[in-house]
Amino acid sequence: MYETLGLSRAVYEYGEAVLARLTSRFADIDAAAEYNQAKVLAAFQKNRVDAACFAATTGYGYNDVGREKLEQVYADVFHTEAALVRPQITCGTHALTVALSANLLPGDELLSPVGAPYDTLQEVIGIRPSPCSLAEYGVTYRQVDLLSDGTFDYDAIRSAIGSRTKLITIQRSKGYATRPSYSVEEIGKLIAFCKGVKPDVLVMVDNCYGEFVELAEPSDVGADMVVGSLIKNPGGGLAPIGGYICGTKVCVDRCAYRLSAPGLGQEVGANLGLMPALFQGFFLAPTVTAGALKGAVFAANIYESLGYPCVPDAAEDRHDIIQAVSLGSREAMVAFCKGIQQAAPVDSYVTPEPWAMPGYDDDVIMAAGAFVQGSSIELSADGPIRSPYAVYFQGGLTWYHAKTGILMSLQKMVEAGLVSESQLQVP
Ligand SMILES: *Cc1c(COP(=O)(O)O)cnc(C)c1O
Repeated sequence: MYETLGLSRAVYEYGEAVLARLTSRFADIDAAAEYNQAKVLAAFQKNRVDAACFAATTGYGYNDVGREKLEQVYADVFHTEAALVRPQITCGTHALTVALSANLLPGDELLSPVGAPYDTLQEVIGIRPSPCSLAEYGVTYRQVDLLSDGTFDYDAIRSAIGSRTKLITIQRSKGYATRPSYSVEEIGKLIAFCKGVKPDVLVMVDNCYGEFVELAEPSDVGADMVVGSLIKNPGGGLAPIGGYICGTKVCVDRCAYRLSAPGLGQEVGANLGLMPALFQGFFLAPTVTAGALKGAVFAANIYESLGYPCVPDAAEDRHDIIQAVSLGSREAMVAFCKGIQQAAPVDSYVTPEPWAMPGYDDDVIMAAGAFVQGSSIELSADGPIRSPYAVYFQGGLTWYHAKTGILMSLQKMVEAGLVSESQLQVP
C-alpha cells in the first residue's frame, strides 16, 4: 500500500529500521495518553455531560447548558477555578490577545522571561508596531532573553521585574525558534521564582501544542492563566474553530468581559451547533496528541540519523508536539513540505509555496491538507524561510498518518537529490 502512495521500498525500510528502536518511547507516550484519557473522562462524568449539552443555541446564547458544562469540563481538567472556551475565540493568537488585553491596563508592564514570543504576538504586544497593539494602549513590554544554553537567566529576570510588572508571559512551546520547549516542571520553577520576587504578579502560559503531552499542565504549577487554540491539541482534530483560557476566576472573568463586553462577560455567546465537536474533540484529544507525539519522535529519529539537527533531538523527552528539523536550505524546506502535502487526505494534489502570510515577518511555507483549514493538530509542516531553514513538523490525527507523512517527506528529499539512496542503507 505504501508503494501505491508513492513511497519507495528504500524509504519504507529505512523507516522500519528507525521504528524498531522506538518501542519503549512509544510505550511511555501511550502511558501518558492513558492517564490523560482518564483525567478527561472523569471531568465529563463529574459534570454529568449529557445529550442536552449537544444542542445548538443561537442569538445571545443565554443559559447555554452545553457551553457552561464544556467550560466546567475544561476547568476541571486544567484544575482551574474557571474557563472560557468559545468558538468566538477565533484562534490561538486571539485567545492570547484576549487574555493579555483583559489583564493589562495602561501603565502596566508585560514581561517575557523566555525571549521573544511567537511571531503573531509581536504585533499584538507592539514589538512590531501595529494598530491596536498593547503598546498603543500604553502597556509597555520587556523581554529577558534566554542564556546561550537555552536556560532561564534568573538574575536578569529578577532585575526586570519592577513596580509596573503586572503580567509575565511564558511560552511553553518553542514556536518558530530553535530553543527548547519547556517542561511543566521547568515552567513551575520559573513561576515560583517570579512570584517569589513579586507575589502579586500574574503569570500567563501560552500552552499552544503542550496540552496532554505530560501528566500535568502549567495551571497545576502556579499559572494564573493557561491559553491555547482548539485547532491544536485540545480540539482533538474535531473542533472546527475556537480557543480556551483556563485560570483564576478573577482573570477569566476579565477575559470574558474583554471578549464580549463589560457587563455581559460569559453570559453571552451562542454555540452555533458546535458543542458535539468541541466535547468529542476534547474527549479524543489525549489520544490524538499521543499519535502526533509519536510522529514527532519518529521524525526526529529519521532526520537526525541522516545528519539534520533536530530540536528536540532524537532521544529527548517531549514537552510539546512540535518537531523542528533544520534542513539548511530553502530547497530542502520545499521538498519536505511537498511530501507532507502529498501525504494529506485533503488537497494532496496541490504544491505548497512560500508566501507573505499576515502576522509573520518572513515568507512562510505551510504544508497542510486538513479537514479544518489551518489546523495544526492535523498533519502539517511549516516554517519561515530564514536561516537555519528549519521546518516545524506537527500533528497527525492518527499515528499511522503521521508516519506516512514523514516517510513521504523523506521520499521527496530523495527525489530532489537532497538525500541519496546510499544514505538510506539500513545499518
Ligand atoms: C500556534 C501558536 C500561537 C498562535 O496560534 P494561532 O491559532 O495560529 O493564532 C501562539 N503561540 C504558540 C506557541 C503557537 O504555537
